[in-house]
Amino acid sequence: MTDTSLKTYGADVFSEKAMRRHLEKTVAAKLIAVMNEGKPLDPSIADAVAQGMKAWALENGATHFTHWFQPMTGGTAEKHDAFLEPAGVAQAVQKFSGRNLIGGETDASSFPSGGLRSTFEARGYTAWDPTSPAFIKRHENGATLCIPTVFCAYTGAALDMKTPLLRSVQAVSRATERLMKKFGKPKAHVSVTLGAEQEYFLIDRPFYLKRPDLLQTGRTVFGAAPAKHQQLDDHYFGSIRPRILKFMTEVEDALWRLGIPAKTRHNEVAPAQFELAPMFEDINLAVDHNMMIMETLRRTAEANGLVCLLHEKPFEGVNGSGKHCNWSIAYGERNLFSPGASPRDNAIFLTFLSAIIRAVDLHADLLRMSVASAGNDHRLGANEAPPAIISIFLGDELTAVMKEIETGEAGRRRGKTVMKVGVDTLPPLPKDTTDRNRTSPFAFTGNKFEFRAPGSSQSCAASQTVLNTIVAESIDAICDKLDARGGDFNTELQLLLQRLTRKHNRILFSGDGYGADWPGEAAKRGLPNLRDTLEAIEPMDNPANRALFAKYGVFSEGEMASRREIAQEDYESRILIEGKVALEIARSMIRPVVADEFSRLATAIGQAKKDGLKVGLRGLTALSLKLGAGLDDLHVKCEKIEKAIAKGSPRGILKAQDDLRKTVDKLEHLVDDTKWPMPKYREMLFIY
Ligand code: ADP
Ligand code: MG
Repeated sequence: MTDTSLKTYGADVFSEKAMRRHLEKTVAAKLIAVMNEGKPLDPSIADAVAQGMKAWALENGATHFTHWFQPMTGGTAEKHDAFLEPAGVAQAVQKFSGRNLIGGETDASSFPSGGLRSTFEARGYTAWDPTSPAFIKRHENGATLCIPTVFCAYTGAALDMKTPLLRSVQAVSRATERLMKKFGKPKAHVSVTLGAEQEYFLIDRPFYLKRPDLLQTGRTVFGAAPAKHQQLDDHYFGSIRPRILKFMTEVEDALWRLGIPAKTRHNEVAPAQFELAPMFEDINLAVDHNMMIMETLRRTAEANGLVCLLHEKPFEGVNGSGKHCNWSIAYGERNLFSPGASPRDNAIFLTFLSAIIRAVDLHADLLRMSVASAGNDHRLGANEAPPAIISIFLGDELTAVMKEIETGEAGRRRGKTVMKVGVDTLPPLPKDTTDRNRTSPFAFTGNKFEFRAPGSSQSCAASQTVLNTIVAESIDAICDKLDARGGDFNTELQLLLQRLTRKHNRILFSGDGYGADWPGEAAKRGLPNLRDTLEAIEPMDNPANRALFAKYGVFSEGEMASRREIAQEDYESRILIEGKVALEIARSMIRPVVADEFSRLATAIGQAKKDGLKVGLRGLTALSLKLGAGLDDLHVKCEKIEKAIAKGSPRGILKAQDDLRKTVDKLEHLVDDTKWPMPKYREMLFIY
């Protein structure tokens, strides 16, 4: 960080520093306790907080305030209200009250509700989430005070992504406290931590504007792979071009002002692909911050004549983009997934580790469900890491330890004694070996788990909500088992961990997730392989799954049903839109160009024959035969996708689109380059 960024870091956040400056001491202390320790909010301080927040916001040039929330579209929403209110003729005051701060009412009828909100009850309600600080969003002509809120229906049913996330954090916190008590640990604040690595593509804006597919669907439905793309691995971690560096610097400046700890920036594997990783934070804040990161990337790109593509697979044939979610649980200052130096700490670590193994094995389908989307289907299981089959990678050392626990036999690690839980410590786990397998969807990386299946455009909220809930359930199950036993704690624990590992070790996989044998092997192990979104959202119908979320108060039956409906609708709409866009481009942009070129050739051939030309005729004829066949093919494929669209079956549309794409991509190499109606991959993917 430069000196200036040190000074401006967090300047656009109603931070502890700003609170202390603008709020009375006791009010500030209460609000800070809410933020840091999850204490309940005392409603009587709302007015005082509102006044201080208003003063701070006005000082920072804000003219409006908004409740900022995350509807089930997966994006963010805001409706601005001016601070300004008339006070007599030609006079105005700037108003903002505790009521404005705490709650809002908004027309929810245009946000997806999946049937949770009946049409006569169109209102939705936003409620302040004081655990995520208010911030200022700047634009060219001013600024807006953004108040992070949850969003729900009149009945209290969640209409957003944040409410279930907060509920799931509570569930996992309670379960963690319960288990830590069994280890004799004093009560401490539990926080779930998240560090989300964000991948994205950048392309020049003029190219983007000439691609109706990118404009309307976020990905290219046509485009032949360029001769050179990522084969030489020369982009990954390569030196960053000055133009991109300028963009990244501006992104970081904006993020640092918002108190978002952007830390790492680098080129990714595909050409024109990049990554930004912040330092991990409390999960609620990290999820909000990731939404702000995505928006900042888009806005800053625009200001630089670029477009930031957050789609999971904007370009066929090169890597897609993910959002690796690094997740852990902290108990007070202590990271529960740090193996720990003492035997007792080691026992805690192994117990929590076993809880994760159990959770992921029992609920692999739910984790897969949590990352299902039309865009992400192009990554998961489609010749790209990670596969659609959920498994856990532990690294060699930890795998050996688990094996020892499982078999009760000494591993090759020390040769002599079996590791005793609560008596022995773990061998040191070298970090590099834990991170070697990049194909695993769920990897232990030294002191945290990295869930690599989430897609680049997805909010982290859904996957993290599921992860928290299934882990809460697993920790509780372990506590229940320990409660039911009476003997020596360490012995009982060792037996329990042994049983758990034996039962759930099928979820552990260190091999190549791309490997051709893995799907067969996974099927033998009974692991689910949910290939596309339609399959992946089915677990939401399973009564046992519904009961699990209801038990932890994360989703009611109704909320789960609504989310299933929204996921299906979103998927089907997106596939339908893509199909229509592909058909329109093929018919109205590609076909005329091919037809023109073909008829020009036909004329030239006729003329050449008339003139009795001895050379060139062969070449012309060969080309015209190829173009003619392509033209016929294009016609057939267009008819097919048209029929599939009329039928409306997503899988049918996808198949027809795939076929159409092959034809168009072939034609791209045949037609005069200057006539091709859209920018090509080789133009878009290399930024100069
Ligand atoms: P790399 O994956 O490049 O080796 P790191 O493993 O250091 O980098 O970090 C990747 C991400 O994981 C970062 O966002 C980092 O802040 C986050 N992370 C590190 N520790 C934790 C933790 N205890 N909980 C959650 N995320 C973490
Ligand atoms: Mg990583």
